[in-house]
Amino acid sequence: MKYLEEYRDARAARHYSRLLRKMVTRPWTIMEVCGGQTHAIVRFGVDELLPPEIMLVHGPGCPVCVTPVELIDKAVEIAARPNVIFCSFGDMLRVPGSNSDLFSVKARGGDVRIVYSPLDALKIARENPSREVVFFAVGFETTAPANAMAVYQAKQLGVKNFSILVSHVLVPPAMEAILSSPTNRVNGFLAAGHVCTVMGYHEYEPISRKYRVPIVVTGFEPVDILQGLVMCVRQLEEGRAEVENQYTRAVKREGNTSAQKLIQEVFQVVARKWRGIGEIPSSGLGLREPYREFDAEERFGVASQCVEESPECISGLILQGVKKPHECPAFASRCTPEHPLGATMVSSEGACAAYYRYRRPQATSPARSDEA
Ligand code: SF4
Repeated sequence: MKYLEEYRDARAARHYSRLLRKMVTRPWTIMEVCGGQTHAIVRFGVDELLPPEIMLVHGPGCPVCVTPVELIDKAVEIAARPNVIFCSFGDMLRVPGSNSDLFSVKARGGDVRIVYSPLDALKIARENPSREVVFFAVGFETTAPANAMAVYQAKQLGVKNFSILVSHVLVPPAMEAILSSPTNRVNGFLAAGHVCTVMGYHEYEPISRKYRVPIVVTGFEPVDILQGLVMCVRQLEEGRAEVENQYTRAVKREGNTSAQKLIQEVFQVVARKWRGIGEIPSSGLGLREPYREFDAEERFGVASQCVEESPECISGLILQGVKKPHECPAFASRCTPEHPLGATMVSSEGACAAYYRYRRPQATSPARSDEA
């Protein structure tokens, strides 16, 4: 297949759906790690094509959703300072902190700008030498190379008024945290294709062996996801646990080694807190010593802030595959995209937003196979 339409072809989707029905003999719970895959599943009704034995649960792979509330608070505090131009991807603006969000700072006159790349923020810094320019560097391994490049270039060019607020997280430690939890119910994973485009998939091999789980690197279109599920369920039914690659058109086992070198040059692995989940050891990236001058937390003296999460939002359980969005008592009542209580209702990759956008609440009540 070469073209987008082929990955959305209804006949191909029905073919994989039939294959799944033929091969499945018992219940399996499979987690798609990436929020982009969650949206494709809900938007195209992929889960409705599955036999009742297969339950999909949604994973922690939405960067906006897992950014901890204290980092939103730090962003709000920095962005409100008079000499700061605060640059961010648009999704982050409405994510609620403990008292405010970046959008409110902007509404009150703060210079908060939406950019599409950290290099745009660096350009703004060079054009405004008398202002401090901060970029909110959120994301998984996918966005790390561009953020590393912005910092690397800032150092090379001697740009002194640029810094990044780092909230980088890594996928493999989160998968291990889910698998080692006593509440785990995941039998197999669809791994996020774009993360593996950068990092490859060799990092998943020890996880697959240690926890005896199949992990299938999978793309983002409906036919990709169904093909990934066929590969995953086939392994489960045959008693195998290996890493396989459905997304061969973009992913190699070793990944993009040039991008990995750049990440390693600028960042080091650190413990990171995940919103709703808590701290996971070695699950994030922080700036290495030669680049610490670009760390916004240190530059603005906000490094030690720490706040508690709201107890009402159960997004942590949703991001670990323990609950689904419609099982949250606040879903579509006290929590909507206009008045979100949690990041999973705000982000374009958030599971709660996907259920709200593509399924009415009554259509998502415990139905069909979801509670198998
Ligand atoms: S529906 Fe709202 S309150 Fe409930 S888990 Fe999702 S974001 Fe949190």
